Amino acid sequence: MIAQLSDRLRDWLHRRRHAERFALLEGLLRHQALSRAEVLRQQQDDLANIVAFAAANTDFYRDRLAPDRPFIDQPILTKDDVVHNRDAMLARGADRKQVGIAYTGGSTGNPLAYYWDAAKHELMRAGMMRAYMGSGWRPGDGIINFWGASQDIRGGGIARRYGEYVTGERTLGARDFDERKLGEWAACIGATRPVLLQGYASILAELARYVIDKRIAMPRSLRGIYSTAEVLTAEQREAMERAFSCRVFNQYGCREVPNIACECRHGNMHVFTDMVHLESLPQDGADRLIVTSLTNRLMPFIRYDLGDSGRLLPGDCDCGWPFPLMEMGMCRRNDLIRTSSGKVVYPAYFNSLLNGIGPIRQYQFVQTALDRMVLKLVSERPLDGVALEAMRQKVRRDVDGAMLIEVNYVDAIPRSASGKHRFIVAELPATD
Ligand SMILES: [Zn+2]
Repeated sequence: MIAQLSDRLRDWLHRRRHAERFALLEGLLRHQALSRAEVLRQQQDDLANIVAFAAANTDFYRDRLAPDRPFIDQPILTKDDVVHNRDAMLARGADRKQVGIAYTGGSTGNPLAYYWDAAKHELMRAGMMRAYMGSGWRPGDGIINFWGASQDIRGGGIARRYGEYVTGERTLGARDFDERKLGEWAACIGATRPVLLQGYASILAELARYVIDKRIAMPRSLRGIYSTAEVLTAEQREAMERAFSCRVFNQYGCREVPNIACECRHGNMHVFTDMVHLESLPQDGADRLIVTSLTNRLMPFIRYDLGDSGRLLPGDCDCGWPFPLMEMGMCRRNDLIRTSSGKVVYPAYFNSLLNGIGPIRQYQFVQTALDRMVLKLVSERPLDGVALEAMRQKVRRDVDGAMLIEVNYVDAIPRSASGKHRFIVAELPATD
């Protein structure tokens, strides 16, 4: 009785704290009840509207889009375009005081910055909640996030603990980890009995390996493992399903255009046509994925080349989602960095190191020994020595006190066999 009352109070506090998010979630859930034909018709309307909006409200698209021409004749937006036209892509009516800037990896190794605001963030979270519900999760059910990026782990103390209590969501900083930390995470899952785990594929797979090796029993409360931000290999998926005894749901999206697609409980990947329009264009033997955000009226992304490959699939799924199907091709590949003390560092940590140091055309960190990395840079002029030394100090503090970083200026950085740029490459001799 008391437990029920406490659950109801928590649910009420949760909905009050995130009223906008819950309202958006309800709208998204209504779309799930539509037919395939209805969601596709809605998508075409949304597409025409966002193209017209972008042409009318941004300097960048005003010169670039011809709304009277067919959509497939509009130009492709590359990551370099975004790097060079960030301000011109921002809607003229945007209130700059309410707008934040965030960074992510660009296509050729230059950091890409984009604008965001609270409305975009709330819609992203609502879209994630809808995807989670595919596993049987309901708002308020426990989630543990394993995030590498520090901007997702803000604040501390009582306010944060209250937020975690109300939402049922807890975030563990997973930028780097070792065996001891993996043990702590496994214990935390056992103690808090969450319904979902979410994080980068490489981190969840390491945790799964640890749980299997140590024969740790995971709680039966778990209903889904949501893998994000990286390619998910069959081996990683198998390890996670074995360790946690529940289904793995692969998600597809990026920071600048989230909620592109997610797997359902039948293991099929559905494209969220109420949030994005996705195309697959054949090029050089691969199928390039091109996305248009249907909802971003702050900084529109129209025909944005994601740098990933995949295909749209015909057919329906028995899960009940009306959204069409797709499959991922070969995509993002990054290596984990390891240190002599047994620590493992998530690659995104290195991506954030060069933010704001500019002007960099390309970069790549290559680990050549447990205590040595080479930073390859393509830049018109040498970077500021003080900033570089500050970066080295940060790595010694965060990664390993003995880590040396040698900076090499080069003319170009060769691409990997798949054609993708790799920001982080581990070239360590095999030790085990
Ligand atoms: Zn399905």
